[in-house]
Amino acid sequence: MINRRQFCKRAIIAVGGLMLPLAALEIFDPRTLQAEKETGNKTRWGFLVDTRKCVGCGFCVKACKIENEVPYDANVTRTWVERYVVTRDGKTYIDSPKGARDGFTSPKIDQNHHGMHEIPPQEVTKAFFVPKLCNQCENPPCVQVCPVGATYQTEDGVVLIDRTWCIGCGYCIMGCPYSVRFFHPVHHVAEKCNFCYHRISQGMKTACVDACPFGARSVGNLKDPDDPVTRIIMTERVSVLKEEYGTKPQVFYLGLSKEVK
Ligand code: SF4
Ligand code: SF4
Repeated sequence: MINRRQFCKRAIIAVGGLMLPLAALEIFDPRTLQAEKETGNKTRWGFLVDTRKCVGCGFCVKACKIENEVPYDANVTRTWVERYVVTRDGKTYIDSPKGARDGFTSPKIDQNHHGMHEIPPQEVTKAFFVPKLCNQCENPPCVQVCPVGATYQTEDGVVLIDRTWCIGCGYCIMGCPYSVRFFHPVHHVAEKCNFCYHRISQGMKTACVDACPFGARSVGNLKDPDDPVTRIIMTERVSVLKEEYGTKPQVFYLGLSKEVK
């Protein structure tokens, strides 16, 4: 348990991290992964997203909501899919209506209270989809700022939330640089993706991985060199989000464009 002074200091450090400039992303150095393999537990869960395969159907979002009992119509979700549209004038438009639960049914960009924005097809230079979820960071600021130890990291590297300990203060929600946490509308405590820990611990895939018809998502053990996910991460050009924050995300992306934040 940390004292009040330590807690405040950690919270300031974490919130300060949010003000860092948003450099897009860095190419991940597989040597880091190799070094990490040398330590600790035999399992280290990691996730691979192949953005080149995602078509934005939203099946993963639906499956996640049902599996993890996040109210279907609530405007919150553990995982979501963003649509990026880059135009000739260099602008990037991003939307994710309902987290893409129902896919992207309109070619117009949903700009929330600014309405729908229509982009003439001849103006589009690039368009793609990017699934997002908790990165199960190796250095998770969300864990550091929790004053009661309700959010913690398992030995196999998944960040979990103990609902019975969470006091709903929201510090972890503010402390996550990836904005993946939210208040559960029913339980009124912090909520986020946990790689379907109840499933992967039993040898199953996550609900989103099983639901994706295009193989855009996969989960694996980063400490097993024969795991197909590990092999790809070790041998191909993968990226992580906001590497400059030092959180060491364990969600790796293939084919990530520089516009993605
Ligand atoms: S992505 Fe956010 S919620 Fe997930 S481990 Fe990292 S800091 Fe915590
Ligand atoms: S189910 Fe697969 S293809 Fe469909 S949105 Fe999710 S990641 Fe993309």
